[in-house]
Amino acid sequence: MFEGCPKCKTEKVIANLTVTYNYDKIGLTLRKDILERRYQTGIWKYMELLPVMNKEHMLSLCEGDTPLLKCKRLGKILGIKNLYVKDESRNPTWSYKDRLCCVAIAKGLDFGAKISTVSTTGNHGAATAAYSAIAGMDCVLFTLPIVPKTMLTLMQVYGAKVVSVPTFEGRWKLMAKCVKEFDWYPLGPYNSMVVGNPYGTQGYKTIGFEICEQLNWRSPNKVIMPTGYGEGLFGTWSGFKEFHELKFIRDLPQMVSIEPANGAPLTNALSKGLDYIERIPRKSSVAVSIAGNTTAYQSLKAIWESNGFATTVEDREIMDAQRLLASKEGVYAEPSSAASIAGIKKLRNEGKVDSSETVVCVITSSGLKDVEATRRILPEVTTMRPDWQIFLKHMNKYLKLEG
Ligand SMILES: *Cc1c(COP(=O)(O)O)cnc(C)c1O
Repeated sequence: MFEGCPKCKTEKVIANLTVTYNYDKIGLTLRKDILERRYQTGIWKYMELLPVMNKEHMLSLCEGDTPLLKCKRLGKILGIKNLYVKDESRNPTWSYKDRLCCVAIAKGLDFGAKISTVSTTGNHGAATAAYSAIAGMDCVLFTLPIVPKTMLTLMQVYGAKVVSVPTFEGRWKLMAKCVKEFDWYPLGPYNSMVVGNPYGTQGYKTIGFEICEQLNWRSPNKVIMPTGYGEGLFGTWSGFKEFHELKFIRDLPQMVSIEPANGAPLTNALSKGLDYIERIPRKSSVAVSIAGNTTAYQSLKAIWESNGFATTVEDREIMDAQRLLASKEGVYAEPSSAASIAGIKKLRNEGKVDSSETVVCVITSSGLKDVEATRRILPEVTTMRPDWQIFLKHMNKYLKLEG
């Protein structure tokens, strides 16, 4: 189940298994007006389209249901009239991984899983730990020495046992052995072919569902997503496809992936016209949550199917975008998430996005996960004596006060 589809497996490609539903049957009872009237909020509002059988396993920390914010000021700067951010930093552990982990842990309870595990640079681990906590499951996380301190704290505080392994492949090896020998329940990939938890990926569909509802049952023209393993991209795309299949929306969006320039396996595969993901050399990036040397085959498929594309952004552009989004729209995004803003800015400059398009950038997590990264680009705070003249002189540099 976590080893990918045996039928389509080749030397270069392993696709994950996906959950399918009987849409004809679901369509008989699930309608737009029913969803609109549904009292329940969060991801379980869409339970007919999620793979969990037992209602008692549908635990919740009130994940999902995040706002779609219209960015008037940023939109004006970038010349896009209908620019939105889907602010996933409002989730319980402040990242969109909560959607994945909520569904994956619920499904784990269906299976009778006792110990959850994942290899993670932070957000996936924090979310796995939090949902394992409310499920009463033990949780073991494999991480890397490079992850921000806040991430380690989050992983530990929810009760997980955290192990830091200096190499990417090393932690996968350990985790794979635990899954095979002890039957631990994996919430994410544990080899370089990137086959994650197929149930967890279903949780991301709710991002697509919510965006459609929030745009009054219309699809945006483009959805811009920071991409690591591409599970978020694939899952969100699947959500749009299902609502289209159910005839809740007329059109489908183009999915646009943004990767850090220091490691862009999807952009690499697309630009070379490959039909598989080629591993690339690993470098470091300020966008730790999306800096990898490989991605899932599914993300390539989502780009093909949606007629989308991928591009890369430099660390400097990411940090500029973080400040821009916070100072114009009041949203403080993790560097990995700000990559989507850096991406739309670049694409707009290159003429790849039209001013009349409706564009949704997914802000996957909060800037508070790595405040040190932001600290490095901000000026020192001014300290001064309580002296009126000194104060005026200082302030006049910024505000042109009378004095
Ligand atoms: C995990 C993560 C991503 C990337 O998600 P994938 O499904 O691996 O592509 C993006 N942003 C943040 C903040 C994340 O934690």
